[in-house]
Amino acid sequence: MSFERLAVPAIQALRAYDPGHDLVAWRRRVGPSLVELGSNENPWGASPAARAAVLDQLHAMHRYPDPLGGDLKRALAAKHGVDVAQIILGNGSHELLMQFAQVFAEPGDEVVASQYGFAVYAIATQAVGATLRAAPALSRASSMPRGHDLDALAASIGPRTKLVYLANPNNPTGTWFGSDALDAFLQRVPRDVVVVVDEAYAEFVEGGATALSLLPSHPNLVIARTFSKAYALAGLRVGFAVADPGLIAVVERVRESFNVNCMGLAAAEAALGDVEHLQWGLARNAEERAALADALASRGWFVHPSQTNFLLVEFGDRTQAIEAALLERGVVPRPMGGYGLPGCLRITVGDRDENRRLLTVLDEIG
Ligand SMILES: *Cc1c(COP(=O)(O)O)cnc(C)c1O
Repeated sequence: MSFERLAVPAIQALRAYDPGHDLVAWRRRVGPSLVELGSNENPWGASPAARAAVLDQLHAMHRYPDPLGGDLKRALAAKHGVDVAQIILGNGSHELLMQFAQVFAEPGDEVVASQYGFAVYAIATQAVGATLRAAPALSRASSMPRGHDLDALAASIGPRTKLVYLANPNNPTGTWFGSDALDAFLQRVPRDVVVVVDEAYAEFVEGGATALSLLPSHPNLVIARTFSKAYALAGLRVGFAVADPGLIAVVERVRESFNVNCMGLAAAEAALGDVEHLQWGLARNAEERAALADALASRGWFVHPSQTNFLLVEFGDRTQAIEAALLERGVVPRPMGGYGLPGCLRITVGDRDENRRLLTVLDEIG
């Protein structure tokens, strides 16, 4: 019996998100010395206040979480200078990215994203039976190698385009664009095309650049953020998006009522309040990223510029051998074949010790 045949056409054509290596299996095999540099997690850990907030929720596990996420939304609204009605919470921003496609696109519609854009955009598009139009990325020789080409993206928007996904900075390239360039891009986008700017790594950008200030002048703009990266809460699954209240109200129709659990809500609110911990982690990341990028470049590898907590590194035809050697010695990178970059690995910036172990393997294999 072919269950695939029972699935709707869009799902028949869909391939599941590739999470990279099976980390649980690698942890069992290697033990605590495993160096996990494949998922852009935060090696510095969450704010102690977030941990305390989680413990404080343990007595309430038999209760449903707040379906409105009121406390967290009010804290977010205050921090970002927006209205509570402009915010929607997600079980990670991944969930929200899927929902934007569910709400705004259907078979026959087009969704625009960049070549080498985050993998979830294609999955979200295909899951609703819409068609992805991939705009060619900037060239390898560009100052933002393989980054988003906003002109190409604008040129890819046609009469059937309903949605555009951009990531700033982008995963897996690490590249970014400025808010003036985004503003100019948005002026070229028809008002009835929704533009999602995924700012999963915004906190890592120098000066904390975000498109939030463009919201009043562009009601079709949606900004997606997450607590998984800079705030180090990947395991709790909390993300959010900010947009026009009318747009948020429509997306709310498909949100599962209790999509963010009580520990996630409490931890995110506490983490948001601990600015000092956030800044400490960001400073460590910036320092280690610069050192790691230098070390890799001095060994002759092409390192894409990055304002994130990871580096896209081109190892060319040695990529597979290097990946195998890393895994054999308990260092887990992220292969990029699924992104059409089989000559690259994406490497999360670890702590000093983890980065040293990565470099040691590279030196051992010469
Ligand atoms: C990590 C990541 C996300 C989402 O992560 P969640 O854990 O689902 O919040 C979204 N976009 C990009 C580009 C990412 O790298």
